[in-house]
Amino acid sequence: MDFGSTEFLTVNRTSRIMTSFDPDAAYMDRLTTIMDRLKEEYGVPDRPDRDDPVDSLITTILSQNTNDTNRDRAKQQLDETYGSYQEILDADTDELADVIRIAGLGPTKAERIQTALSRIKEEKGEFTLDHVNAMGKEEAKAYLQDFPGVGPKTAAVTLCFVFGMPVMPVDTHVYRLAQRLDLIPQDVGRSKAHELLESVVPDDRIYEFHINLIKHGRAVCTAQNPSCQDSILARYCINCPCQEE
Ligand code: SF4
Repeated sequence: MDFGSTEFLTVNRTSRIMTSFDPDAAYMDRLTTIMDRLKEEYGVPDRPDRDDPVDSLITTILSQNTNDTNRDRAKQQLDETYGSYQEILDADTDELADVIRIAGLGPTKAERIQTALSRIKEEKGEFTLDHVNAMGKEEAKAYLQDFPGVGPKTAAVTLCFVFGMPVMPVDTHVYRLAQRLDLIPQDVGRSKAHELLESVVPDDRIYEFHINLIKHGRAVCTAQNPSCQDSILARYCINCPCQEE
């Protein structure tokens, strides 16, 4: 690939790293260009079929602080052990923790899953989260985050992927790229990053941008060894680690 190194270095050396969030016209132009370049490279992702929201909430609780493989194995063991949400709710908590231990934090996650199921059943008389569809996104975020152990990321993932709401999940890839691309101030934590990115990305591009940032983060802009020489975003990247060398 033609790296365009002269332009790349010039852009990086003359750009100021963001210290406060001020999405002016130049910022919005750069953001749009980055989204467009990612779209050219990775396309517009199809939305997955929507799972049962209660099932998805359980999966997202299992996914906390672990990788996808161990999350999926824990979920499979959960499904093979229990035949219904009621059985999970009625299970001995220590036994449940043992069933899902491959995902790590077994006792904590077992308690969170049972608390969530208990609350849902108590509120609605059945295991359903369909009522969330009728909420606005801020109300829906607050509602889900009221469940023990459900933070901004878990709520955002559930609302974005399961309910199809224009909510921006910020996982490790999105956060790393947003910082390297200087789309958020460097000292902003992940919770705030959700809020800031969601405020500037158009609703109809949030899902696309989220997925494409993850694809670029996994394939090119990895945590330890980003392949900046091959990066389609090199010329827009302000806080690139290559500049530190
Ligand atoms: S791979 Fe390098 S140039 Fe591309 S976005 Fe990541 S840090 Fe920036």
